[in-house]
Amino acid sequence: MTVELVKHSASDTDVLWAARVSTAGEQSLDELGKDPERSRGLINFLMRDRHGSPFEHNSMTFFISAPLFVFREFQRHRAGWSYNEESGRYRQLQPVFYVPDESRKLVQRGRPGKYVFVEGTQAQQELVGRAMTDSYQQAYATYEEMLAAGVAREVARAVLPVGLYSSMYATCNARSLMHFLGLRTQHEQASVPTFPQREIEMVAERMEAHWAELMPLTYDTFNGNGRVAP
Ligand SMILES: Cc1cc2nc3c(=O)[nH]c(=O)nc-3n(C[C@H](O)[C@H](O)[C@H](O)COP(=O)(O)OP(=O)(O)OC[C@H]3O[C@@H](n4cnc5c(N)ncnc54)[C@H](O)[C@@H]3O)c2cc1C
Repeated sequence: MTVELVKHSASDTDVLWAARVSTAGEQSLDELGKDPERSRGLINFLMRDRHGSPFEHNSMTFFISAPLFVFREFQRHRAGWSYNEESGRYRQLQPVFYVPDESRKLVQRGRPGKYVFVEGTQAQQELVGRAMTDSYQQAYATYEEMLAAGVAREVARAVLPVGLYSSMYATCNARSLMHFLGLRTQHEQASVPTFPQREIEMVAERMEAHWAELMPLTYDTFNGNGRVAP
C-alpha cells in the first residue's frame, strides 16, 4: 500500500479560529496562541460534546495506491470526501496485484461482526501465494490478449480481479477523516468496537500517522474521547 500526503492545509489553530468566531466574532483570529491550555480545553470540549463543524475548516489530500477491494470499501465514505481515481477506460491497467505477506493473518474465527483472525499454517500461506499469483497471471494474460486483438480497454478489464492495484487522490478534512478512522481502525482507546478488513486498516493507519503530525492537539482529544468523530 502507498499513502502519501501530497497537499495539506490543516492545523489545530484552524479548529480554534473557527470555534472562537462564536464568542469573539471577527476578532477570533487574534485569539489564537493566547493561551495554549485554554486552546487544548476548547478542542477537548468540542470533541467531547460533538460540536463537529470547527473540525471541517482544513484539508488533506492523500495519494493512495491499494487493491481495488480496498477502494470499494474506501469510497463508501461519502461525507467530506473527494475522490479521483485512475481510469481503466483511458489507460491500460498495470499488472500490479496484491499478495498478502506473512504478517497477514489468514484464518477467520468466530461469527461475522465479532470475529478474530489467527495465523495460517505454512501450507495455507504457500497456497495463498501460489494460487493468487497463478490466478493474477492468467487474468492479466487474458486482458492483454483481448487488448492485442483490438478489444476496448473498458471491455477487456472485466477479467481483472479485485486484487489489482489502483491509485487515487482522496481529499478530506479532520472531521471526515476521524469518522473514517473510527470505522476503519481497531484501537485500544476506541469506545466503539469495529472489525475492519486488515488491508483498509493498513491504509487508514498510515493516513492517521500523517494527520497526527499535522493536528496533534486534535489527534490527542480524538483518542481521549474514544475515537468517535464529533
Ligand atoms: C466493519 C465494516 C463492515 C461493513 N460491512 C458492510 C457490508 O457488509 N455491506 C455494505 O454495504 N457496507 C458495509 N460497510 C460500509 C458501511 O455501511 C458504510 O457505508 C461505510 O462505513 C461508510 O460509513 P458512513 O456512511 O457512516 O460514512 P459517510 O458516507 O462518510 O457518511 C458520514 C456520516 O454522514 C451521514 N450521512 C451520510 N450520508 C447520509 C445519508 N444518505 N443519509 C443520512 N445520513 C447520511 C451519516 O451520519 C454518516 O455516518 C461496512 C463498514 C465497516 C466499517
